[in-house]
Amino acid sequence: MTVPSQIIGESTTTFRRDTNELRLEFIRAVLMHCHIQAAIVRHDPFGMLSGIFDLLILAADHARARAALAEMTVTTDEAEWTCPFCLEIVPGHFELCWNCDTVRNRGSDNEAASECTPAAQQSVASI
Ligand SMILES: [Zn+2]
Repeated sequence: MTVPSQIIGESTTTFRRDTNELRLEFIRAVLMHCHIQAAIVRHDPFGMLSGIFDLLILAADHARARAALAEMTVTTDEAEWTCPFCLEIVPGHFELCWNCDTVRNRGSDNEAASECTPAAQQSVASI
């Protein structure tokens, strides 16, 4: 994991939080492509090696980063959804809320209840 140290110590804030580091790496690649500096750090306030990672970007870059990701999600058929728990807007290809890990509720789709999300399995397996 490479962390661009030049942005650490400046006013970086969490742009995404995810248990899947690869997913954050993907987002980071998209942001880097748009010339937005991003760093992935383990979100570990208690020193317990939690499997949660934060993608940090400069506070001033948040609007641009959201726009960059919104552009990216246009290429998928999935519309973004609103987390029922924290009301965060989540890109359509995510099955978990990136902010609070709430599993996506697909509303009237009956498959939602029995749907087994790979992301959820992965986070359990990595504990
Ligand atoms: Zn949420």
